[in-house]
Amino acid sequence: IIEIKEIKRNFALGAETVYVLKGVDLEIAKGDYVALMGPSGSGKSTLMNILGCLDTPSSGSYVLNGKDVSKMNDGELAEIRNKEIGFVFQTFNLLPRTTALDNVALPMIYSGKSKSERNKRAEEVLTQVGLSDRMDHQPNQLSGGQRQRVAIARALVNHPSIILADEPTGNLDTKTSVEIMALFDEIHRKGNTVILVTHEEDIAEHAHRIIRLRDGVVESDVRQK
Ligand code: ATP
Ligand code: MG
Repeated sequence: IIEIKEIKRNFALGAETVYVLKGVDLEIAKGDYVALMGPSGSGKSTLMNILGCLDTPSSGSYVLNGKDVSKMNDGELAEIRNKEIGFVFQTFNLLPRTTALDNVALPMIYSGKSKSERNKRAEEVLTQVGLSDRMDHQPNQLSGGQRQRVAIARALVNHPSIILADEPTGNLDTKTSVEIMALFDEIHRKGNTVILVTHEEDIAEHAHRIIRLRDGVVESDVRQK
């Protein structure tokens, strides 16, 4: 489902070039459950942004569901992002002053669905994440865990094959993190490919495979289940 070869990513910083990813090769199969770990600055978010088609590599190839994403233009990338990928951020990235329902319905805006169909689907995913009684709340009226549930519902709404999450429990307390991880476990069980970044070993335990980055390369790749 995901095949990346010799991915490099550099950033120009003034007159200097920062070499962040220095040749990453990875194959991730449909239905895999991966934890991406590694020290701060090792390139985890940079790699996740490439996997999520939020960014393109400086060189190397990325084939996603049989399509060569590394050669796509912005419009094509936006389409892939919308249909095939659900991205969850550490800071939730929800629209303020917008209800949970509207936040979740937003990615369906170009789907061709009617407003009532969009709302019906948004209600369905919000119920799936345990928020059927919070649909009309705005982000500032929700707890951190509930905000993350809204963000997860939004990521799921267009039936993506892959869920990417960059430190999804980074801003949550331990008890809430456990609840959010139970949700990722369930999403994986239902057949999604799940890739998440974490610094915590007990979060990574949920995954079936742990990939560690160090200094922009894969240091280890271990299947544990
Ligand atoms: P953390 O665990 O702290 O989130 P990370 O593994 O996610 O770290 P990245 O965010 O991928 O690390 O960053 C890796 C390196 O790339 C860092 O040294 C960072 O300064 C650099 N970097 C990332 N984005 C840019 C950019 N747009 N311009 C310049 N340098 C960048
Ligand atoms: Mg990061």
